Amino acid sequence: MFLSYLSANNLSQKMLRVIFSIYLMVACLITSIQFLTEYLKTQDSISNELKQLEASVLGPVATSLWQYNQTQLNALVAGLVKMPIIEGVDVFNKHANNMISKRSFTPASEPLSIFNTQSDLHWLLNGEKIFLGTLVLYSSSEVVLDRVWFGFTLIAVTAIIKLSVLFGLFIWAFNRYLAIPLKELMSQVNEIQLSKNVSKRINLSNTENNELSQLQQHMNNMLSAMERDRTRLLVDEQNKRIWLENAVEKRTEALQILNEKLQRLATIDSLTGALNRGSFFDCAQHLLMLCQRQKSPVSFVLMDLDHFKNINDTYGHFIGDRVLIHFTETIQTLLRKSDLIGRIGGEEFVIFLPDTGMDAAFGLADEIRKAIAHSRLEIEGKTVSYTVSLGIESSGPKDLSIDELFKRADLKLYDAKDKGRNRVEI
Ligand code: GH3
Ligand code: MG
Ligand code: MG
Repeated sequence: MFLSYLSANNLSQKMLRVIFSIYLMVACLITSIQFLTEYLKTQDSISNELKQLEASVLGPVATSLWQYNQTQLNALVAGLVKMPIIEGVDVFNKHANNMISKRSFTPASEPLSIFNTQSDLHWLLNGEKIFLGTLVLYSSSEVVLDRVWFGFTLIAVTAIIKLSVLFGLFIWAFNRYLAIPLKELMSQVNEIQLSKNVSKRINLSNTENNELSQLQQHMNNMLSAMERDRTRLLVDEQNKRIWLENAVEKRTEALQILNEKLQRLATIDSLTGALNRGSFFDCAQHLLMLCQRQKSPVSFVLMDLDHFKNINDTYGHFIGDRVLIHFTETIQTLLRKSDLIGRIGGEEFVIFLPDTGMDAAFGLADEIRKAIAHSRLEIEGKTVSYTVSLGIESSGPKDLSIDELFKRADLKLYDAKDKGRNRVEI
């Protein structure tokens, strides 16, 4: 767990690592200060003890010096050096010459630091203080360390326990208040992102009022706004689709009407309503083939209005047009539904009669001729009469081309014109 927090890669663990590192540094600093204080305090107390010892041996040492009792002096110094807090003793005479110097350590194992206390040695004679020399007592860092070792251990153990407990508490608190709610938030956001249900919202189990619950609220507000936008967009899109479908439907209808118009324009003569030349020949050719297969005769009647130029010249083009319309209407009343009528030139018309032999065709043609000759057209107060010449051709068993029939009928029409007009030639 500890190692996992040291190699952290998420926010809460990183925060924990930073805080714990700072805490560790502060704890080390405080512990070091505690160590130093403890050391200095102990060194102070050892110095005091040295002074007290010094005070207690000053008398015997001064006596030994006054009496020049070297043996006693040596014994006193040897006794002092054996004491645990004393690492060395120096005795100087009044001329500052070292009389005795004793150490409890060898020069090779000299301690890290040495400190001392020194006092002057006097002898009282008739109330007069006579200076005999100086007594110096030494102690060292090792003595201090020996004394503070237990205290140091206690401080270190306390610091380690404090650190461990705090680290555990940190981990618990970070997990409880940050890592777990953040993890839950992330997993719920992910779930919403993957879900098709747009009304889904974040619902954290920890309901305390803090930044996380506020973030949850903000995110839910954002999700609601997104849902509203999405619904609005869907409605908009549906309306647009309906509008587009209507527009396409209307445009298709218009195109259909236009198409029909175009088809009409392409096949029908706009003035008379008869088939135009191209469509007449197409249809007639088709019907000819059909009738030939059924071995049924067809007839072809070619018609040309007589002296039509005169009508135009006499009454004008407008009345000429009305004559053409009148002609078409008149012959249409005499035809069957299956018969075709076409306008193939200015005042030239043609009729295709399926299942019709020469006799029947002649009967019809003459009927047309008579009807036209007897008609009187009243236009703008003028009475117009006109006649028509007709040439008839009927198909033989080997006739397969409508053009051939047309050519032969044309010759008949010429005959009719030649023979005086207002005639039917077969
Ligand atoms: P014929 O008896 O020999 O056929 O004499 P015609 O005058 O009818 O023949 P012609 O070919 O000399 O004259 C045809 C005239 O028809 C000439 C032209 O001005 C007229 N015409 C052709 N198309 C139209 C039309 O659509 N409207 C009108 N008003 N006149 C047309
Ligand atoms: Mg003509
Ligand atoms: Mg003519």
